[in-house]
Amino acid sequence: MKNIVTIEKISNLAKKRGFVFAGSEIYGGLANSWDYGPLGAQLRKNIKSDWWHRVVESRQDMVGLDGSILMNPKIWVASGHVDSFNDPLVEDKVTHKRYRADHLIEENVEGVNADGMSIKELNKLITDNKIKSPDGNDLTKVKTFNLMFETGIGITEGEKSSVYLRPETAQAIFVNFKQVLDSSRKRIPFGIAQIGKAFRNEITPGNFIFRTLEFEQMEIEYFVESDEWEKHFKDWSDWMSEWAKSIGIDMDRFHAKDIPKDKLAHYSNKTIDFEFDFPFGCKELWGLAYRTDFDLKNHTKHSGQQLVYTDPNDNTRKIVPHVIEPSMGVDRTLLAVMLSCYDEEEVNGEVRVLMRFPNHIAPFHIAVLPLSKKPELQSVSKEVLDLVSEKWVVDYDETQSIGKRYRRQDEIGTPYCITVDFDTLDDKSVTIRDRDTMKQNRVKITDLQDWFGSILNI
Ligand code: ATP
Repeated sequence: MKNIVTIEKISNLAKKRGFVFAGSEIYGGLANSWDYGPLGAQLRKNIKSDWWHRVVESRQDMVGLDGSILMNPKIWVASGHVDSFNDPLVEDKVTHKRYRADHLIEENVEGVNADGMSIKELNKLITDNKIKSPDGNDLTKVKTFNLMFETGIGITEGEKSSVYLRPETAQAIFVNFKQVLDSSRKRIPFGIAQIGKAFRNEITPGNFIFRTLEFEQMEIEYFVESDEWEKHFKDWSDWMSEWAKSIGIDMDRFHAKDIPKDKLAHYSNKTIDFEFDFPFGCKELWGLAYRTDFDLKNHTKHSGQQLVYTDPNDNTRKIVPHVIEPSMGVDRTLLAVMLSCYDEEEVNGEVRVLMRFPNHIAPFHIAVLPLSKKPELQSVSKEVLDLVSEKWVVDYDETQSIGKRYRRQDEIGTPYCITVDFDTLDDKSVTIRDRDTMKQNRVKITDLQDWFGSILNI
């Protein structure tokens, strides 16, 4: 297994270089909220754009959707979230700190997987094993805690009506199923993809950006004939592994885990969790679920609207399609990419830190670095900058020694640095340094667009 960087190291680098900052920091912060800095925002955008391009723009069987965060609360009754979107909560009787009962049990009893256990089973395990809180105090009985954030629409307190911040993006897809079908005239198998924010009042958020209250999801609902679900499930499972590899996730640390039948979520008949070896353990990165016709049927029942598909070859045949759902968190993906791409190597007795981001994911593709701030070098460097900025995302940096500037670009994962030196004034050529090999190439300025065009392949 490749050099596993600690969360502390990666979060320090993320802060120092402008990937991720602790949220609201000048006001003392807000626990478990994070803001993405200039490089983090770009990295997120690149991950999302690549996903969108591959699942929507480059396929005829897929369309996109951008649903709203606030939706009619009846949706969450129909989806089962009001009744079942719960986690088991215990409280320390002295400090009143709250914990996930299943997590506490797993930390205290070896070999137990408490995920999905009933409240009764959890209470029994806590009593039988005399489990205390991490501060050594007694625990309350386990109770269920609904993870949805509730808020109010309305001006005066008494007239407010309750709504939820959506805990997943998927439901917007189901409730728009008929409108998308009618307007896009797609035939099954076809899918609807969406990227957007989701909110969960997690009992124990933490591990940097792994588990937060506000996060972003990239979700697909793929509608199929019921007897074809297995084939499509396999296709999406393969697609998810291929995409993981293409964005730089270390495949030695990426594992598909089949969820046993008795641990499946209320809507699922089969689920694979794609897990990643994070520094704090092997944890869920993404999920793939076969949701059957659960959601469309429930929304039909609760809304009174027929969410059915008419077979174009036989108008009398109306079916409720079955659904395969790849569900992926943007923030966890970004964390797994950063952990996978982080590398250290010794160069001339010093440690060089680099992010081996694939070219299309890297926040900057190229950095232009004039060797000195002399006006004649600045002027030709700006020409080079303008030339390459036409097609790629480029950083420009003229402060500090060239060595320090290379080190900074390595740490933020820029694949190529262009150095403009005094010879450039005569030979109209620049030096291109490769991040991974540190090899240097002399290239004519007039050839730069072709050179990068063939090598960056974006
Ligand atoms: P977990 O078991 O870790 O709580 P989950 O099974 O509840 O996750 P899903 O409901 O399947 O997660 O959500 C789909 C994806 O959304 C997850 O695979 C993950 O990438 C992301 N995700 C879910 N909850 C969070 C969170 N609190 N913070 C960041 N990302 C999240």
